[in-house]
Amino acid sequence: MIQTTNDSSWQEILAGTIKNTEELCRRLDLKQDALPADHPLLKNFPVRVPAPFLARMEIGNPNDPLLLQVFPGAAEANSTPGFINDPLEESNANPHPGILHKYKGRALLLVTSSCAIHCRYCFRRHFPYADNLPGRQHWRESLDYIANDTSLSEIIFSGGDPLTLPDAYLGWFIEELSRFDHIKRIRLHTRLPIMIPQRITESLCELLANPRFQTILVLHSNHPGEFDVEVDEACQKLSQAGVCLLNQSVLLKGINDSPATLAALSERLFSAGVLPYYLHLLDRVIGAAHFEVNEKDASVLMKKLQATLPGYLVPKLVREIPGEAAKTLAV
Ligand SMILES: *Cc1c(COP(=O)(O)O)cnc(C)c1O
Ligand code: SF4
Repeated sequence: MIQTTNDSSWQEILAGTIKNTEELCRRLDLKQDALPADHPLLKNFPVRVPAPFLARMEIGNPNDPLLLQVFPGAAEANSTPGFINDPLEESNANPHPGILHKYKGRALLLVTSSCAIHCRYCFRRHFPYADNLPGRQHWRESLDYIANDTSLSEIIFSGGDPLTLPDAYLGWFIEELSRFDHIKRIRLHTRLPIMIPQRITESLCELLANPRFQTILVLHSNHPGEFDVEVDEACQKLSQAGVCLLNQSVLLKGINDSPATLAALSERLFSAGVLPYYLHLLDRVIGAAHFEVNEKDASVLMKKLQATLPGYLVPKLVREIPGEAAKTLAV
């Protein structure tokens, strides 16, 4: 067993993430072909794995479904037609740095560029964050944009992972948003409750329990093996704070592309008080082609899932098509 980190603060765990392939392999007793350390794909988007997530991986198993999400395999270097840097064309969709407003009624605030984990399939792995993260003093413009657009009712904290920010900074955003009467809901998209469940502190829960808003937290869990007792406790604390818990996954070849795994994920989510929301088809970003499941196979999977589970445990299969008014249903 790998040493778990119960007693450390979430900040210490976050600072202590594994940051290179060598260490990852050493900790899991693996000898694996990987991208060379000086490969641009790795330089721009290095390995990053937090200890609590590592502890749920099986030692010596190169095909562990948690490991495959973070391991920079040699396959990343294969160039595949149709896989590009910015598949969602997000770099054209921000009215102001730090804000993405593509859909009616809701907008994304990109509050940070950092994540606790680097997911090798991430569609934002090449996003030009440097141009997109205003300093705190420059958030005024984006906040004014929200203040002036009364068609917005929901603000989505995204990034990066918003829960890598300290409570004080998150609290500042929530406070600012609470002044705009038209904003009814805040939503966080985050992998932190899974990656570092210690992040779900009492003080965070107090912040999120703000009666001014309905609060939604969307976990990004891809596999039932990502859950353990500590993750359950984190989810329970969030539920008790009145936060509505949803999950979105990405359909990933070799990781969760079987009806049994997806059914087990839905069941596991529900036992933690989380409802399945979306199952995303992969965004076609450079370096991620080996994770792709084609739409036809995905539809077959969904049919099997529907034949197994109650309706409320079946996520919606979607893909994101640039220029559309919402995610596009794939079946
Ligand atoms: C996915 C996304 C949303 C949220 O869409 P929902 O269907 O409400 O979950 C909002 N804005 C942007 C830019 C998105 O990519
Ligand atoms: S946590 Fe989300 S934003 Fe961060 S690397 Fe993973 S998929 Fe990308």
